[in-house]
Amino acid sequence: MADVMLVTGASRGIGAATALLAARRGWAVGIGYRSATAEAEAVVRTIRDAGGTAMVVRGDVADEADVMRLFDTVTTELGPVRSLVNNAGSVGQYGPAADLRVDELRRLLDVNVVGAFACAREAIRQMRTDAGGTGGTIVNVSSRAAVLGGPGEWVTYAASKGAIDAMTVGLSKELAPLGIRVNAVRPGLIDTDIHDAAPPGRIGRLLPNVPMARVGTADEVAEAIVWLASEASSYVTGGFIDVGGGR
Ligand code: NAP
Repeated sequence: MADVMLVTGASRGIGAATALLAARRGWAVGIGYRSATAEAEAVVRTIRDAGGTAMVVRGDVADEADVMRLFDTVTTELGPVRSLVNNAGSVGQYGPAADLRVDELRRLLDVNVVGAFACAREAIRQMRTDAGGTGGTIVNVSSRAAVLGGPGEWVTYAASKGAIDAMTVGLSKELAPLGIRVNAVRPGLIDTDIHDAAPPGRIGRLLPNVPMARVGTADEVAEAIVWLASEASSYVTGGFIDVGGGR
């Protein structure tokens, strides 16, 4: 039986690339998503056409009941989750902090922080070796914004990813004795739809700040995620891989 990876936000972008790469490396993959049904089903089809195992579950990570159903469905159909990739995320309101709308900030934190914690909780309950689990890995998808701060654009988003970094450090220490490794990747400027939430041309505007002078691809981030999820990184916990071209 293949080990099971659950990737949240896997209908598009970095999550979809992670699901596709993980399936090629032999994982059975549960694909969580919120709204892009056709895209999520296309990811599953691609994996199955190549002989892999995958299934799709729709749900909002900000909704606790959806998260529990996500884990229940994947566990029932594929088996216990061996790796959780906490990838689902959004950027929230764009612009200066003086224009902040509190309701949008609350929604952002619900998705990016509360959702990641709720998924981690379900993973821990399944994986913990002191309660019959076989251990596992959690890979959190943070952002270089957690370090850079997102001034003028997405400080609230950056702060939500700062929370993910603290969560990664804390959970890695709390869960090491339970056989669960917790790590994070911090992508930089990656070519996905997420930039559509900013005024047009964001990638071009920021490129001069990238030492490697190019945008990254979702596949390049997926490589780091799948490595952290796998036994190949067996002595790594509480670690961060920056996938940002030097930015
Ligand atoms: P993306 O292309 O916009 O994809 C976002 C994915 O998250 C989609 O599959 C979306 O599902 C899902 N999602 C969003 N809100 C959700 C919710 N409430 N519940 C469940 N699923 C939800 O974004 P991306 O660039 O691949 O980003 C993936 C992760 O990487 C995010 O955590 C993001 O913050 C992080 N990141 C991205 C970059 C970058 O430059 N792209 C840089 C740093 C960090 P639907 O499509 O079905 O709605």
